[in-house]
Amino acid sequence: MDDREKLFQELRKQNIRITKQRRAIIDVLEGKHLTIQEIYNDLRKAGYNNLGTVYNNIDFLLEHKIVTQIFINGKKHFDLTIDEESHNADSHIHVTCKVNNNIIEINDSNLFDQIKGNPIFKDFSINKLQLVVEGTCSHYEKETCKKDGACFIKRLNNRAV
Ligand SMILES: [Zn+2]
Ligand SMILES: [Zn+2]
Repeated sequence: MDDREKLFQELRKQNIRITKQRRAIIDVLEGKHLTIQEIYNDLRKAGYNNLGTVYNNIDFLLEHKIVTQIFINGKKHFDLTIDEESHNADSHIHVTCKVNNNIIEINDSNLFDQIKGNPIFKDFSINKLQLVVEGTCSHYEKETCKKDGACFIKRLNNRAV
């Protein structure tokens, strides 16, 4: 049994039901950050036609912290919080290149600790902290950046800092 199945078993014990469609939503989000429209498109491609309950199911996944939402490039994106151990809702930084809207993640708990430990917050208890960094690859011509795999942030992908 893989980790994902183990997790689902845990959730079932807590009476959190991962229905077929919820499972399909989790599958399409694997390794990606998608808008609601992109989730719809991917589900349709995967053969799901009855999409009337997608919103409700995403709400359910949000409520149980299986998925988190994050504004990137002005649009709400959904992101799995369960794809790796270090990857919970607040532990990773999203970086996006404005030229091609690539989104990558950097795990750097130090940065989060620095913000949480800042004297400004000494009388404040932080329970949610999201970081989105938007920018461009300054050393590339825009056209280079648009090519697959050329964008600078691709090289930062999943780099443990
Ligand atoms: Zn993410
Ligand atoms: Zn770029």
